[in-house]
Amino acid sequence: MVHIEIDKHSGFCFGVVYAIEMAENRLHETGELYCLGDIVHNDKEVERLEELGLKVIDHDRLRELRDVAVLIRAHGEPPETYRIAMENNLELIDASCPVVLKLQNRIRQAHDEDRQIVILGKKGHAEVNGLVGQTQQEAIVVSSLEEAEALAIDKPVSLFSQTTKSTKLLYQLKEKMSEKFEDFTFNDTICRQVSNREPELRKFSEKHDVIVFVAGKKSSNGKALFSTCQSVNPRAYFISDVAELELSWLAGASSIGICGATSTPMWLMEQVAQHIDAHVNQVALA
Ligand code: SF4
Repeated sequence: MVHIEIDKHSGFCFGVVYAIEMAENRLHETGELYCLGDIVHNDKEVERLEELGLKVIDHDRLRELRDVAVLIRAHGEPPETYRIAMENNLELIDASCPVVLKLQNRIRQAHDEDRQIVILGKKGHAEVNGLVGQTQQEAIVVSSLEEAEALAIDKPVSLFSQTTKSTKLLYQLKEKMSEKFEDFTFNDTICRQVSNREPELRKFSEKHDVIVFVAGKKSSNGKALFSTCQSVNPRAYFISDVAELELSWLAGASSIGICGATSTPMWLMEQVAQHIDAHVNQVALA
């Protein structure tokens, strides 16, 4: 019998749980709710909520809407979105994660003190857009050590990070930038819901022959956490859906671990576990 285990530390973080609960409560009351961007970077979970009446919109569509309810997801939004909502008489259901709101405040404060804000993050990512929006678009977003090394800034510098970036890269950046800039402050703003998962995932990945990592292709923390699995287990595979699983990956394995990102619903990991069980155990017994 092949041992199959789902990592108990994987699955939604509290920020995502909170946003989905807010959406579900409203959908049960009215059957309709607009959501600015994917509520979570997981297509399967978005499809489930769309069946309940969720309508995912972009910022262009937001400008056209009047007098309806719109959910702000956990990633948060720049001040511009709140201004549009006021003008268009939109009811905002604000599910911005408290961790992101705190980071937005810290960035705004440092910017008000006339410091140059540098953010380790992915340009164009929704959370990063919300952060840059706190600085009148003046923050510089970097994604690598090379980009940080090339910075030419002649004022005090403060480094922050998108909440889901890699802790290792952030601390490498901090070292480089503290050598380069005289007046430099550093803020470790990686969310502990993500960074605390790295050591747990490492242990989990080591103890299984094969790891099946489940996450949406757009999930930043999915990419970061998957690379943690791969660093200790070369037989780690990334899938977004059961249909992407290849049974050849599981050949000869006596234990298989299933894990995922902070945006991966538990029901999806359970589906993957059942699918694997049906093929490697029940077919073998038949
Ligand atoms: S990963 Fe952290 S910051 Fe992002 S939504 Fe979850 S709890 Fe909030």
